[in-house]
Amino acid sequence: MSSRLVVPKRGLGGWLDADLPQAERCNALPISLVTFLRQSLKVSLPMIRHLLWVLAVLLAFGVGTASGQTNDVPLAQRRWLETRTAHFNIYSCGAPQDVYKLAGRLEQFCEAYTLLAGAQAVASPPIVVLAFPDHESLKPFLPLYQGQPANLAAFFNRGSDENLIVLALPGANTAFTEMDVIFHEYTHLLFRHNDPLWPLWLKEGMAEVYSTFETTGVQVRIGSPIEHHLRLLAQKPLMPLAELFSVAHDSPQYNERDRQGIFYAESWLLTHFLMAGDNPEYKACFGQFTPLLAQGQLPMRAFTNALQTTLPAVETELRRYLKRGVFTPIELPLPAYLSSSITVNTRVITPVETWFRLGDELLRINRLNDAEWYFTRAQKLAPASPLPYEGLGLLAAERGKSDEAARCLKEALQRGSTSFLAHYIYAEEKYRRTADSQDRYTRLKNDEAAEIRGELQKSIALMPSFGPAHELLGFLEMVQGDSLTMAEQHLQLAIQLEPENPAYLFSLAQAQLRNRNPDAARRTLEPLLLPNADAKLRAHAGELIKEIERNSPGH
Ligand SMILES: [Zn+2]
Repeated sequence: MSSRLVVPKRGLGGWLDADLPQAERCNALPISLVTFLRQSLKVSLPMIRHLLWVLAVLLAFGVGTASGQTNDVPLAQRRWLETRTAHFNIYSCGAPQDVYKLAGRLEQFCEAYTLLAGAQAVASPPIVVLAFPDHESLKPFLPLYQGQPANLAAFFNRGSDENLIVLALPGANTAFTEMDVIFHEYTHLLFRHNDPLWPLWLKEGMAEVYSTFETTGVQVRIGSPIEHHLRLLAQKPLMPLAELFSVAHDSPQYNERDRQGIFYAESWLLTHFLMAGDNPEYKACFGQFTPLLAQGQLPMRAFTNALQTTLPAVETELRRYLKRGVFTPIELPLPAYLSSSITVNTRVITPVETWFRLGDELLRINRLNDAEWYFTRAQKLAPASPLPYEGLGLLAAERGKSDEAARCLKEALQRGSTSFLAHYIYAEEKYRRTADSQDRYTRLKNDEAAEIRGELQKSIALMPSFGPAHELLGFLEMVQGDSLTMAEQHLQLAIQLEPENPAYLFSLAQAQLRNRNPDAARRTLEPLLLPNADAKLRAHAGELIKEIERNSPGH
């Protein structure tokens, strides 16, 4: 019997993180999925137009005039465009030039991250962006907070299978507001390979430093001073660094909803000091922190070892830095290729896709009944389309109605769905139904396994960078036992694609154990035994280690 630990559901720019107790998060099922839209819909193929735009040309010559759509046309009935760039699929009925401006901004952020972090970005499926033409039209699509639409101009919803950015376009000649929320969350996503290692203050500090991202066209700038943090730091004493290091996801100081309070302010200050501050020795040594953490040193120890000093000494220096009051941003020249143009691919989406997209957005922010209304309308509009079935399938999966989810998704697949998520969730629902009440799996009959395997392979073929499909396929192969090497390969790849999901390590360790490599399994489990690892995972890892020791008494 093999246990599959489910990946914790992530939430709305941390909203759910802040509100759900830890245990509940770990037991939650992955938020369901949706589609990388490249549907060739029988209903209205002629409507689909593929256009290649070069952003700079459009902006320079003002090609692509305002959409001319007025507010009297209901939102779902307006003309919606899909604009695809290297890392984003943007859906909007707003003015194309505003959408291209947004696309450029997001792509430049992505590029700036690579420049500044000097790290290889982890590949992931494109992020879905819904850009509403104005704040009024965004309102019905805002997450509810205590029963009311949250007061947000933009938000980033992280899911284990789809990342979603939702915002209102600022309109002509107006700057984007609240992009800091988007950049903060996007930084978490881009830096996720450090998730298992970094203490929370560094994750949040880094996200805040990057959140002020600006570009002048010839250079990028991050790390501008953040007024509300400085105001608070002027009023409240700094937390002792030992206390800052001990803040965890379940601490009261951690609040991703408003990112306020001394924890965020001081995390920003310390990260700013170490990245951009006026102490050249600390700046030079800071780069050693992550490698020392990776060697298994505890955060506080790795920190003082990296900086070759003591915590009180850093505290004194940090106070001095704050008192000095000069916070110089980091500026880097923008490579020429980036400041000139980005390639975007635009097409008009069909009405059924529009209804589906809006329903999917509501599904992601947990407004399930509203989502259902949109999917049902989509179905009335285009009964032959796979999209409404996909939406209803995802919705059923989210509601825990496994049979209905499998039925709807099968219907979507038979109607020609090309969604990697539909294939994946269908496989997952089918497979989950074979587990016992404790999520333990035993070998399936060959034909049963073949169907699940086939769907996962299709999902991977459609989206090779989708980690969850690799993980599930690896797990299935491990349980089946016919191809343990392939099982390990898929699980390794899943870990590479989703380094922030420590549960994948547990699957890999089980596969290595089955493949008669207890030493490798033990090494794989090591990060799960660290004090900062999730408690449930640590307990499971501990049990598995005991099992390894029982079976190899020589060790
Ligand atoms: Zn954050």
